[in-house]
Amino acid sequence: MAIEIENLRLKFPEAVERQFSNLNIKINTGEKVLMLGPSGSGKSTLLNILGGNIPRSMDIPFKADVLDVDTGAAYVFQDPDSQFTMPTVVEELAFILENRCVPRRDMDQLIQDALLKVGLKTDLKMPINNLSGGMKQRLAIASALLQGSRTLLLDEPTSMLDEASVGGLWQTLENVWEDKTVVIVEHRVNEIWDKVDRVILMNGEGELIIDDSPSVIMEDHIELLN
Ligand code: ADP
Ligand code: MG
Repeated sequence: MAIEIENLRLKFPEAVERQFSNLNIKINTGEKVLMLGPSGSGKSTLLNILGGNIPRSMDIPFKADVLDVDTGAAYVFQDPDSQFTMPTVVEELAFILENRCVPRRDMDQLIQDALLKVGLKTDLKMPINNLSGGMKQRLAIASALLQGSRTLLLDEPTSMLDEASVGGLWQTLENVWEDKTVVIVEHRVNEIWDKVDRVILMNGEGELIIDDSPSVIMEDHIELLN
């Protein structure tokens, strides 16, 4: 679904300056967006607003003139361990389906389908703790599929992965994202750059300074990116 925010103002209670002053962002349905910016610029905070995590589970005061966000968005976070609530793969995925009131007899098939789609080959009863970082991120994407989210928000999902797993994660994402709106915060951009429709660059003051297609940015703003 489309997301639109107009004139977002946000100041952390103990901060001196506002994190965002009149930030505007519009993301069309089905668009794949890569968001870049220096550490501390506000990328994670903005993602948390785009999916309604703020204010649902983080009590941070803000105002906006327009706030069309997807409160049903699914998140994939930097730290794969922070996003699971159950001990095993099957319990984690069944828990999501229970919350959606899916009948028990349908669960197995849905879970198998989701695991197949994300290429996670593992025993269903496997403790999540025993999975590698890359497998956990695949599980997080499988969770998002089972949530039925129309929006996927990924916050540096490759930061705990070794170089060899990064391409596989992006391929997995590309296999399932077609009809979804996707926003990715990521600084290892090589393998994702050509797959997205738009790149948004945030500066250290929390302003969106560039918003264009990856190819135009490569031509016109390469020095800024570096
Ligand atoms: P990024 O993801 O771009 O690194 P963040 O959105 O995590 O940036 O943080 C932006 C700024 O807001 C940082 O200066 C950070 O210290 C501050 N910040 C983030 N979350 C909180 C919070 N819950 N309370 C106070 N300050 C915060
Ligand atoms: Mg962050």
